[in-house]
Amino acid sequence: MGILIFWDEDVPEGLQQPFVRMVSHTLDMPASAQPNGMMLRGFDRSRNQNDASRILGDMQDIYTRRAGCEEAVLLVTGKDLYIRGRDFVFGLARPGVKVSVVSTARLDNRWYGRQQSDEDLMDRLVKEGCHELCHCMGLDHCENPECIMYYPQTLDELDRKKKTLCPECRQYLNLYRFSD
Ligand SMILES: [Zn+2]
Ligand SMILES: [Zn+2]
Repeated sequence: MGILIFWDEDVPEGLQQPFVRMVSHTLDMPASAQPNGMMLRGFDRSRNQNDASRILGDMQDIYTRRAGCEEAVLLVTGKDLYIRGRDFVFGLARPGVKVSVVSTARLDNRWYGRQQSDEDLMDRLVKEGCHELCHCMGLDHCENPECIMYYPQTLDELDRKKKTLCPECRQYLNLYRFSD
């Protein structure tokens, strides 16, 4: 089992290598990255956001159905994402087919009028990228506020999380890893 990351052109280039390394380390799985070649559809002009469900639908079609990809796939984009019924999402996953997406838009200090920091952005991106990838591998939300699988409603809640899984979630991930 491995992880395949697609990097959209609107995300800063320099973050890609450290991100791949940290995701691989955090989930203890091989991970690789390549530039995203897929057009991101589902743009809503009035919201200035992309529909994350639509993006996952296209990813499922391209990577799972047509290419027969067996790895867990994560797309990293700079575009702000929403799903129907919610103002925004940091990311979204479709567990059964192992595709997921995460947006850097609201993980960046500048979104909140604060000073830009690569360190803050990387910290949050690793947490949320791993969170969505773990959904791909069958993990649900966790009630431990420090666990990667905790579902943060705000940036503060996201920042309170650690870049690790709690023991129960780690055990579940290990079960998954050795199941195939
Ligand atoms: Zn989640
Ligand atoms: Zn947990």
